[in-house]
This record gives sequence, structure tokens and C-alpha cells, in this order.
Amino acid sequence: MSVTCPRCGGKMIVFEKSLSATVGPFSVKKFLPEELQKYSSVEFRICESCGYMEIYWKK
Ligand SMILES: [Zn+2]
Repeated sequence: MSVTCPRCGGKMIVFEKSLSATVGPFSVKKFLPEELQKYSSVEFRICESCGYMEIYWKK
């Protein structure tokens, strides 16, 4: 699946991070505001050309 940048039409890099991951002894979720802790992962889309970034929260 290829995603096009809405700003410049360039190619966007898409990657997903699980929020159940841990950083040392801490869960990543611990660092999030309470209203975001219901999500299980977050998807980042970053344009290779202009650096435009979108973030999608996923349940
Ligand atoms: Zn762009």
C-alpha cells in the first residue's frame, strides 16, 4: 500500500507502533494521557519529500 502526501504528492513512509510495548520497566501507555490509553497502536505517516507527518490512533 502506498500513501501519497496530501501536501506535496510525495511518497509517505508508513509505520506502526504498538502501545503495549515497554520502555525499560515502563509500559509506553503509562506516558500517554488517559484519553489515549484506549488505543492499542499508533500509525505514523511521514513524507519522504517534505517531512509532513500524520498520526493515526488505532484501537
Ligand atoms: Zn510531502
